[in-house]
Amino acid sequence: MKTQRDYEVLTNEAGGVPIKAWTVGVPFEDEAKKQLRAMATLPFVHKWVAAMPDVHRGFGATVGSVVATAGAVIPAAVGVDIGCGMIAVRTTLRAEQLPDSLAGVRSAIERTVPHGRTDNGGRNDKGAWREAPAAHQEAWARLKPGYDAILEKHPRLGRGPDLGHLGTLGTGNHFIEVCLDEAGHVWVMLHSGSRGVGNRIGSHFIELAKEEMSRFFIHLPERDLAYLPEGTVHFQDYLHAVSWAQDYAATNRELMMRSAVEALKASGELPEFSLTDAAVNCHHNYVSREHHYGKNVLVTRKGAVRAREGDLGIIPGSMGARSYIVRGKGNPESFHSCSHGAGRVMSREAAKRHFSLEDHARATAGIECRKDADVIDETPGAYKPIDAVMAAQAGLVDIVHTLRQVVCVKG
Ligand code: 5GP
Ligand code: MN
Ligand code: MN
Repeated sequence: MKTQRDYEVLTNEAGGVPIKAWTVGVPFEDEAKKQLRAMATLPFVHKWVAAMPDVHRGFGATVGSVVATAGAVIPAAVGVDIGCGMIAVRTTLRAEQLPDSLAGVRSAIERTVPHGRTDNGGRNDKGAWREAPAAHQEAWARLKPGYDAILEKHPRLGRGPDLGHLGTLGTGNHFIEVCLDEAGHVWVMLHSGSRGVGNRIGSHFIELAKEEMSRFFIHLPERDLAYLPEGTVHFQDYLHAVSWAQDYAATNRELMMRSAVEALKASGELPEFSLTDAAVNCHHNYVSREHHYGKNVLVTRKGAVRAREGDLGIIPGSMGARSYIVRGKGNPESFHSCSHGAGRVMSREAAKRHFSLEDHARATAGIECRKDADVIDETPGAYKPIDAVMAAQAGLVDIVHTLRQVVCVKG
């Protein structure tokens, strides 16, 4: 039997390893290819660079890329939103128990969970807690000593409203949703990362790596691919700080989920309910130590989710498209990975030019969500068609649940 390859291979005139892209049948912009090719020329990349079907141009490095490295790490290949990811829980509620109007459910979440722009703890800071709940303070008491130790060696990182940001959503692309699965069960799902502190850590080490490159006269095809070689102090410090930020991010999602569920319970809009044990919490911007093709490597996923055999992951679509709970197939060629979403098909600026308020209203009809001009850059048409994205990665994951949002709170 002839087995067909389910990925495309990009070769690289500039040399370097190949790029295996699970992009059959989905848009794949030249800009992203260019970025991936630059990444593939770095001498410490193990085997090949993998691109997921949601691949698109990213700041510093491609979103939807998976790179395994031996002997160095590229801070921009994780990016500044360290530990960004998704959490989803299934409740005991059923679709028919939801009220006809979901406006009250949406505003209960919006009132309870800080979201949107932050002004660094200022008086009208909607994006941070004015007074963090007890559970958040406890979690920060656990996290803080780790940060203090990092700060001591890297005073440039400084402090921000790091407790105030814990358990808060952030802006733009981050969201909290109430969804229904194929069997009519109600889920709560949300998307967020390590907020301001993760951003400071990411930016600081990207800058440090650039400084190191010029110190050692290392010339790169892209300045953003600056790396930290293993055995250096910065390498150790980065891995330590990035893993701390990943912990902050996962904790952020857990605490926020807790507040969102409490808000729903206290809203007076729903009958009593509890949570089932079907919960998934996964990063999609992160580094982890893994073993692939006979080597211990650092796997950097930027806009990609781990999909070892049996791993559960979350692949959101858009404000108006389906999302998926998936189970990994453990495909070794993808370094056990899958996409982290549908992926952008156009930039925020292009989306604002391209779509009208009417287009957005049509694309989100029946969904209790923002319909204002400031959310047009997040409109469903700005993302790739999720059906094509899922078809392209049929060899990487199985679909376990299909979710359709009825409420979407955007940052
Ligand atoms: P990112 O982490 O790259 O900002 O976004 C991850 C993915 O989330 C996007 O590629 C997109 O497919 C999906 N997404 C963006 N906004 C929403 C939303 O409001 N709801 C859902 N369900 N998915 C979204
Ligand atoms: Mn994020
Ligand atoms: Mn994200």
